[in-house]
Amino acid sequence: MHRASYIFLVIISFLLVASCSQPKPQVFSDHFFTFGTDISVSIFTHDKEMAIKGFSAIRSEFNQLNRKLHPWNPGELNSLNRAIAESENIEISPLLIELIHAGQKFNTQSAGLFDPAIGSLVKLWKFDQSANIHTSIPSDSEITNITSQRPSIANVVIDPNGYAHCENNLVRLDFGGFAKGYATDKAIKILKDIGIDNAIVNAGGDLKSIGNKNGAPWMVGIRNPFSAGAVASVAINSELSVFTSGNYERFFKKDGTTFHHIIDPETGFPTTLMASVTVIHDSGILADAAATAIFVAGPNRWQQIAKSLGVNKVMLITSEKEIILTPEMDKQITILDSTLKKTIKEIN
Ligand code: AMP
Ligand code: MG
Repeated sequence: MHRASYIFLVIISFLLVASCSQPKPQVFSDHFFTFGTDISVSIFTHDKEMAIKGFSAIRSEFNQLNRKLHPWNPGELNSLNRAIAESENIEISPLLIELIHAGQKFNTQSAGLFDPAIGSLVKLWKFDQSANIHTSIPSDSEITNITSQRPSIANVVIDPNGYAHCENNLVRLDFGGFAKGYATDKAIKILKDIGIDNAIVNAGGDLKSIGNKNGAPWMVGIRNPFSAGAVASVAINSELSVFTSGNYERFFKKDGTTFHHIIDPETGFPTTLMASVTVIHDSGILADAAATAIFVAGPNRWQQIAKSLGVNKVMLITSEKEIILTPEMDKQITILDSTLKKTIKEIN
């Protein structure tokens, strides 16, 4: 045989053997429960061992974060809340310092509407507990006792030695508005660090993804606040987070009125004008905080808050069944429910 043909044959046989010994890439999935919700992780790879390593690292990270950041169960954040109630100084971990600083930034950018110091109101409305224990709504005086002191994350001061102090002892930190965003950012970083390029981490409908699934985008649905199923679908094939705040997540009904878990720190009452808000951004923590902040801002103030937070892919669904989309969001998603009135609005 001619020498060149021989070499060519050897190379082809080598490639054939290599491709047969390499398992076909596929989606590996893991599911577990933490942060009060179902977490599902999907990884597209040919390397099953690597996927298993990713699953176990994410499980351990989420479980740790849930323990450390739970406002009411024993853990770091709970210890800080107790110290604040007693007007004591307490040394806090770099994790809490990072989240308090992030919370303070989002609080300023949202003109105080996003406030992770909302815990006293969350407790007063019993949203720290299961929905079926509600027998009455708080009285006006119980609410104004808190709102008149305006507990805010801006009241928390951290000294250069890592000690936290807070003059306002009605501050109770509750990171429910952005902890899942922080956790999904961490999860995706963990996966990238171990060499995984294609994955999606979904925390009860809020998610972050990287890469794609065999060249096809990851497809995700956004829940319809008015009926079963999805109101919209999003195709993503890059590093992106999709976060939704909805009035259907945690609520109770009293005398025909529905009260849900997102509270306006100014009035002390759950907001009433919004059904859901979705924000898409590379950063999970920002998308999560912005969805909550814009939910509180509502249809009249959302543009100013979105601009100041630096997000432009925003979808609002009002209680009046109107969908408001920014042009950037309109390009990214497909609306599936044609019964809702759709309006495109620029942020500026
Ligand atoms: P999300 O589902 O991300 O909108 O977060 C809702 C959770 O954030 C609630 O269950 C509370 O723990 C907390 N929360 C409620 N109101 C606010 C607010 N105005 N700012 C920040 N966090 C809030
Ligand atoms: Mg949020």
